[in-house]
Amino acid sequence: MSTLYLVATPIGNLSDFSPRAVEVLQSVDQIACEDTRTSGVLLKHYEIKKPTFSFHQHNEHHKVDYLISLLEAGQSIALISDAGMPGISDPGFLATRAAHQKGFTVTAIPGPDAATTAVAASGLPCDRYLYEGFLPPKKGRQTRIQAISDSDITCVVYVSPHKLVRFLEKLHEFAGDDRWVCVARELTKKFEEVDRGQLGNLLPRWKERKAIKGEVVVVVAGNSYSE
Ligand code: SAM
Repeated sequence: MSTLYLVATPIGNLSDFSPRAVEVLQSVDQIACEDTRTSGVLLKHYEIKKPTFSFHQHNEHHKVDYLISLLEAGQSIALISDAGMPGISDPGFLATRAAHQKGFTVTAIPGPDAATTAVAASGLPCDRYLYEGFLPPKKGRQTRIQAISDSDITCVVYVSPHKLVRFLEKLHEFAGDDRWVCVARELTKKFEEVDRGQLGNLLPRWKERKAIKGEVVVVVAGNSYSE
C-alpha cells in the first residue's frame, strides 16, 4: 500500500534531522518539497538521491491531484517543507486530508518544530498552550492580539522579525507591563536567543535594537500567570 510520509526537517541545525527521517526519505519513490532548492541542501548533506517535485502554497491545490495520482500508481511519497513539521504554518494539510480521504496510509515522522521548541524553552506554562501560528497581516490582526492578551493559557505566535516590535507594542497596549513573554529567535542556530521577561522590561530591550533579523517565535503567558 502506498504511503504518504510527512517528514519533519530541521529548523536550523542540520544535526536535528532524525535517522528515521533519513531512512524514510531514502525509501520513498519521490519527495514533494516546499522548495526543491532549499531542501536540496539537506538532501545533499544526507546523501539522499531521490526525485523531487515542488509542492508549495502557490501550487498546492493542483499539485494535490498529482501527488494523489502518484500514490494511486503505487508510489510512496514523502512531503517535506523548508523547515520543521509539514502542515504547521506550511504546506501539507491539503495533501494529508486528500490522502486520508482516498484511503492511503499517512505517517508523520516527528521532529523539530519551532512552536514546541520555543514553548519548551520559554519556561512559561506548557501544560496547555494555544498555537496561534502567523497572525493576519492587517484585517483581524488587532482582534487576534487582543484575544492573545485575554487568553488564560499560554499562546505561541510566529512573528516576522520586522514586525516583532510592533507586535510587542500592541500586545503591551492590551496586556500591560506585567505580562510574561518569551521571544525565541534563531532556535537551534548559532545566534539562538531565548529572551524571557515581563513586557515592561522586555519590550524596551527589543525596541533598542537597530535591526532584528532571523526567525522569531513569541510565547505569551496566560493572563493570570505570575511568578
Ligand atoms: N513548519 C515550521 C514549524 O514546524 O515550525 C514553521 C514554518 S513557518 C513558514 C516559519 C516560521 O516558523 C518563522 O517565521 C518563525 O516564526 C518560525 N521559525 C522557524 N524556524 C525557527 C527558528 N529556528 N527559530 C525561531 N523561529 C523559527
